[in-house]
Amino acid sequence: MNEQTEFVNIDSDVQNLNIEHEEEPTGTSMTVEGRRIVNVQHLCTKMFCGKCQVRLHFQDIVKEHKMGLASYFTFKCPLDICQHRTVIGTDTRSAHGPFDVNSKAVLGIFFYSDYISQ
Ligand SMILES: [Zn+2]
Repeated sequence: MNEQTEFVNIDSDVQNLNIEHEEEPTGTSMTVEGRRIVNVQHLCTKMFCGKCQVRLHFQDIVKEHKMGLASYFTFKCPLDICQHRTVIGTDTRSAHGPFDVNSKAVLGIFFYSDYISQ
């Protein structure tokens, strides 16, 4: 595989997932089904090819790796001369920490259980 994968705003734990080495069912875009909790502002500001900076679209997603309520999408650049893969998370995260949406969900459950036990 000569293509490189660009990881945007993520750290080494995700790169260790070997996302770039996973099999793609068709080698082209995939259909992302179901519902997601997405930080829209974060995702929109990151959806550019890591190599040629062209705007990426949801139809360019070739792979998804779910982590709790968040996901990492692997986008394949739509330009034939580029084909670069860029991995983008669906939410922000603290350095080496979990996705913010996952942290907030846990805190919500903690506070709710404390509230109903009173
Ligand atoms: Zn590109």
